[in-house]
Amino acid sequence: MKIALIAHDKKKDEMIKLAIRYKDALAGHELIATGTTGTLVMGETGLKIKRMKSGPLGGDQQIGSMIADGLLDLVIFLRDPLTAQPHEPDVSALLRLCDVQNIPLATNKKSAEIMLNILENGGFDK
Ligand code: PGA
Repeated sequence: MKIALIAHDKKKDEMIKLAIRYKDALAGHELIATGTTGTLVMGETGLKIKRMKSGPLGGDQQIGSMIADGLLDLVIFLRDPLTAQPHEPDVSALLRLCDVQNIPLATNKKSAEIMLNILENGGFDK
């Protein structure tokens, strides 16, 4: 599967912890991330991740484009709902495209854990 990982700044620690916890499950898949998230997760886990531009610089749009093209199977986007984001239109567009394409999307830690547990147990039906 192709899995996208994105985390807003205040959620990056959560993403790193998730990636460490589910490293083995994630390692079997093709990983894509926004720039800073990808750099941090790669540095902490050693996972191979294709990095797009940083979110505020167009990375969310790049990942959104992949979603529109049907190239992604799962999106984990740990959003910070309490901080205004300069690239909020890009974030909204990405989330909307997940719904357009019916792509599984986790926007908080608990949802991500549920999805990664399913992935870990081999139960993810693409
Ligand atoms: P970043 O982008 O991983 O480059 O910080 C995430 C975002 O804010 O969309």
